[in-house]
Amino acid sequence: MKQFECGTLVPGCHWHTEAEDGAEIVRRAAEHLRSVHAEIEVRPEMIERIKQRVHDDAPARP
Ligand SMILES: [Zn+2]
Repeated sequence: MKQFECGTLVPGCHWHTEAEDGAEIVRRAAEHLRSVHAEIEVRPEMIERIKQRVHDDAPARP
């Protein structure tokens, strides 16, 4: 499972998503940015920044 937290890109935003597929995360994140952060232009650079912040679900620690 992969995850993305919007707060890593937009400080203060608590939206996050997770999916098996990184491309699905990017799609959802772009949709979120367009609807909630309308001031942010979703350009190819922004897509790259999203991709850089998609990470694997951290294993649970005891
Ligand atoms: Zn957000």
